[in-house]
Parts: sequence; C-alpha cells; structure tokens
Amino acid sequence: SEIKVELIENAITQFCVEGDVVNYERYGNGHINDTFVVVFQKNSEQTRYILQRINNSIFKNPEQLMFNITQVTSFLKDEVKRLGGDSRREVITVINTKEGASFYQDTEENYWRMYLFIEDASCFEQVSRPEDFFQSAVAFGRFQKLLSDFDASSLYEVIPDFHNTPLRYKTFLQAVKEDKCNRAKEVQDEIMFFIKREEDMEYCKRCLEEGKLPLRVTHNDTKLNNVMIDNKTGNGLCVIDLDTVMPGLSIFDFGDSIRFGANTATEDEKDLTKVNLDLELFEEYVKGYLKGCEGSLTDAEIAMLPFGAKTMTLECGMRFLTDYIEGDVYFRIHKPEHNLDRCHTQMSLVLDMERKWNEMNEIVSKAKGGNL
Ligand code: ADP
Ligand code: MG
Ligand code: MG
Repeated sequence: SEIKVELIENAITQFCVEGDVVNYERYGNGHINDTFVVVFQKNSEQTRYILQRINNSIFKNPEQLMFNITQVTSFLKDEVKRLGGDSRREVITVINTKEGASFYQDTEENYWRMYLFIEDASCFEQVSRPEDFFQSAVAFGRFQKLLSDFDASSLYEVIPDFHNTPLRYKTFLQAVKEDKCNRAKEVQDEIMFFIKREEDMEYCKRCLEEGKLPLRVTHNDTKLNNVMIDNKTGNGLCVIDLDTVMPGLSIFDFGDSIRFGANTATEDEKDLTKVNLDLELFEEYVKGYLKGCEGSLTDAEIAMLPFGAKTMTLECGMRFLTDYIEGDVYFRIHKPEHNLDRCHTQMSLVLDMERKWNEMNEIVSKAKGGNL
C-alpha cells in the first residue's frame, strides 16, 4: 500500500541513530509489513537499517507485539553472548526511538519500528537446495533452544487462538451448520474428511493441557524467507520476522515448516497427483531442527514431530474449507474455487502423510539416535 513520503521521512527521524540519512527505499519480499532499508552516514561510514511499518490491520495491538519482540530478543542476545556468538548478527536488534520506546506511533495510526540491518546474509523465497531447508531448520531449532528457559506464558497471544485446532474445528462445524452460502452440499466429502479426523485435531492441544507437551516460545511463521542465511558460511544465521512470536507448541512450528516446505507442489495445485510429502526434505528438516534444538526438546516433543506436521496440515486445510463454506471472507482468492483448491492440496498432503506415517516416524527416530 502507498504511504505518504512525509510519514516515512518523519518516522525515520524518530529513532536513535547517529548521522544523516543518505537514502531509503522499499525493501525485501515480505507480504505483511511495509519494509524499507534506510542508509545513514556518519563521517565517512554508512550503516543500513530496516524501517518497518507494522501491519496493524492484522496485528491489532502493536504495543503487545513489540513487548513480545523486545522481551524475546533481549533474552536471545544474552544467550548468544553467553555462548560466544555475535548478538548483532544472530539476533534482531531493536533500535529505540529518541524517547526510549521500541516503536513510534505517528499521528495517522501508523506504528513504526527500526532494526539493525543484518549484513552479508540472505533470505531465500523458495527451497531451491535441500541444504537451505536444512539450514532454516537449524536456525528455527536454535531459536527454540535459546529460548527454552524463557517463560513462554509471559508473552502475549498476539493472535489469540492462532493454533487452537479444536476451536478452529468448532468454528468449522458452525460454518457447516449455518451454511450461509449454500455451499455445504457440494463439499460433503471434504467435510467428512475433517470430521473423520476430529480426534487427531484435538490430540496435540490435549497433550499440552495434560502436561505431556511443554508450552514453548513459538515463531508461528517458520517460512524459509524468515531466516537469514550467512553469505560466507551458508549457515542459518538469524531468525527474523518475530511479529507472531507467541506461547505455543514447538511441534507446530516444526509442523508448519513441513506443511509448506516439504510439499512437492504449490498450495493451490490443481493436479493433486503432484501433491506429496517429500520424505527427503522431511528428513533434512528433522535433522536440522534436532541439530538446532540440541537436546532442548523433550522426548515427547520429538516423538510427536510427525503429529505436529499432520495437525498443521489438517488445520490449514480445514481453514480453507471453512472459508470456502463461509463465502471466501478471510483468505484472498484469485479465482472462484480457490479456497477449495487449497483445501484439496492440504487434504492430499494429509493423505500422503498417513501413507508415509511409519517412514516419517522412522526418520525422526533415526535422527534422534534410534531410542524413541
Ligand atoms: P514480513 O512480515 O512482511 O514478511 P519481515 O520482517 O519478514 O516482514 O521483513 C521483510 C523482509 O525484509 C525480510 O524477508 C528480509 O528480506 C528483510 N529484513 C527484515 N528484517 C531484516 C534485518 N534485520 N536485516 C536485513 N533484512 C531484513
Ligand atoms: Mg517475513
Ligand atoms: Mg511476518
């Protein structure tokens, strides 16, 4: 969306950065926030920063969101320093405003923040090499490990009930019952697919409630392009895009990565024979994630990684179906049955996971060292 130049330039001056602004421009391929790179110069040295306007139509409470980000990044920095790492490259650095706040609210309800620009590192949009997928898994695993002593319950639920699968199931049943657009009759098979898997969708949440799975700090947007890969070493360097950091389940962060990263087709592929779980990519991710987590996951979490992948895929497919039944009110569609197409790919992926269930579990067990 267009933002007035005066607003951008005013926002830039609010933050605690020394030197003069040389230039600024839009930056990156993010779909949520408005992201700019800003170059400052002091004496002869230039330094880049990221300026972002937080998307406050999605994130209704930017104060709470920034609270989460400052708490988590300062904890991460301490951990990285303790381990002898470079906390300015391995963790997002929030630049405060001149008033000492972590964000700036302008007169038009825009919320701005500034980060140090992480230099000599790249974000990839697609998995073009299994190695990149592996590295993103290492980075997200390490993120989990570094935060394993952080009290997740102290964080705000930025999007309440984001992965409350049983609640989403209730919403789905309600949509079917109301059937506002008279579409339910066309999608009886799809509806039954999810109803048949009701217990699966409730299982992870119940494990959390019964204390079988711990509450963790989760990222909730574990896409490849939210990890910076070091240009020199090729290693996963830093997890970025912390807007959706919340309390949750580690296996859901893992699972969502698998859902979109280890799927052999796009999310709206019409030819469902192309939709499969790529076991090689699954194995890469499992290995990377366990490596990054370095012993910080419980045995129950590790054993339930495949379940996390299946639950995330079920939940996502069910949300597409719910939106189709409700008349495409939530997800942006580009053609009439787009949400139904998307639902079908997720169903196919679930079916493929069910077919490959033993292999998935063997891969996890092997990566752990065989004693699950
Ligand atoms: P969105 O929620 O819109 O995806 P991101 O926080 O992921 O927003 O930022 C969008 C893009 O900006 C990222 O994919 C990355 O390329 C770039 N970016 C974000 N933060 C930094 C940073 N601290 N250093 C370098 N690049 C960054
Ligand atoms: Mg992003
Ligand atoms: Mg984001």
